[in-house]
Amino acid sequence: MRVQSSWSRLLPMTWGNPGYFNFPIMTFNELNLIAPILKALQEEGYATPTPIQQQAIPKVLSGRDLMGCAQTGTGKTAAFSIPILQLLHERPLQRSNSRYIRSLILTPTRELAIQIDESISAYGRHLPIRHQVIFGGVSQNAQVHALSKGIDILTATPGRLLDLIGQGFISLDRVEFFVLDEADRMLDMGFIHDVRKVIRLLPAARQSLFFSATMPPEIIQLAGTILKNPEHVAVTPPSSTVEIIDQRLYFVEKGLKKNLLIHLMQAHEVPTALVFTRTKHGADRLAKDLKKAGIEAEAIHGNKSQNARQRALANFKSRLTQVLVATDIAARGIDIDELSHVVNFDIPNIPETYVHRIGRTGRAGNAGVAFSFCDAEEKPYIKDIVKLIGRQIPVIEEHPFTGATVPKSAASTTPAAPMKSATPAAPVKSATPAAPVTTEAPKVVRSFNDVVKLQDPPNRGGVKPQPNKKWRPSRHKPTV
Ligand code: AMP
Repeated sequence: MRVQSSWSRLLPMTWGNPGYFNFPIMTFNELNLIAPILKALQEEGYATPTPIQQQAIPKVLSGRDLMGCAQTGTGKTAAFSIPILQLLHERPLQRSNSRYIRSLILTPTRELAIQIDESISAYGRHLPIRHQVIFGGVSQNAQVHALSKGIDILTATPGRLLDLIGQGFISLDRVEFFVLDEADRMLDMGFIHDVRKVIRLLPAARQSLFFSATMPPEIIQLAGTILKNPEHVAVTPPSSTVEIIDQRLYFVEKGLKKNLLIHLMQAHEVPTALVFTRTKHGADRLAKDLKKAGIEAEAIHGNKSQNARQRALANFKSRLTQVLVATDIAARGIDIDELSHVVNFDIPNIPETYVHRIGRTGRAGNAGVAFSFCDAEEKPYIKDIVKLIGRQIPVIEEHPFTGATVPKSAASTTPAAPMKSATPAAPVKSATPAAPVTTEAPKVVRSFNDVVKLQDPPNRGGVKPQPNKKWRPSRHKPTV
């Protein structure tokens, strides 16, 4: 089976162009792969390994556990399945019973499970490898029959796996390789307890690979229970991807973020937007608030059915809704051509997530705008983001909701650069801003670092206050 001919054609635009990566272009030959695998890759039309493959394959081949931060579409399936195929082939099989399972790949959905098994079939086509996929919602008979002969690589969804283990058709005693794929989505879909049950059944001596597109604290904690002294790999489009996107930062009190978004939409600063919130509840609440203010909005997240998500996405694409509010995981795989605006309603605590989010806009050479709303608690996240992308995010000072974010101490020590805007802050309770709606382009005052320096109290974040620092305007020009 031909999985895909060229990742430069099929991966998202920003990821597909090797020029976007500060990564040396290498060939699969340089990864010490065995001939049957190289042959299969050539037949697949894979010319060069993707960045996650370049990083992960040598580490897995060396026997190390791995923690990978990567989304679907980066070539991560090959990144874990190719070295597993090779190691399985090179190691003699200790066949103690006929129902052996040498590798287990756990993945949240039936679609992903099928896709992974198809990839294994393609990459392992010149190897004597037995592989099988199991998932729920279909009769178990054919799956049970295939399992009776022993399996080198089993790809499974958690529910059906535990079901067949419970019925005595599967034992995980002999597992040498364990892959947890899309760990954050497992969490989002409520499978985390099932995942923990599976982990308890695995032998202690094994090699484990863990993949997640985002790394919230629960996921990092889960990884800690699975991995031993892991190597880390992450794929993030470097700053060149980010450079084409017009990014702006608004400092705003948490409770006023919705007012700011409504204000920007009513002022036509933001015609339509994909808005990211940290939680499902937050997404629902924001969609409700926007609707109350007369803005057509819908939320998508893990608690919504597949049908509801698809309907919301279709409505957004056809412009029936102006705003699609999404959690990071629900927004995965959403591909919207000509998406003009992304709004980080909550600042992600993982800087790579920021890059993934804003990479939704500015696709295919189109202009893209990314607004980030930062409250006092989120400032450290912005620092990490700035470090990752290697550039400042221009700060928009003049908006009606600035006042509350400026600590008194900063305002008093920095008379040259006051944060207060000319327009008064809107009352907290109102869903719509009290400030007059303006269609003027927002005024960019200075870079984030300057503002942080001015706003941070002494000795916080290791930055000394610089009361006499001269303000220099950012070279950034607003484009809306
Ligand atoms: P994944 O992120 O694993 O879902 O992979 C995304 C798509 O990229 C899959 O359809 C793969 O067939 C394809 N792909 C993965 N690695 C490569 C590669 N090195 N060259 C070309 N296509 C690839």
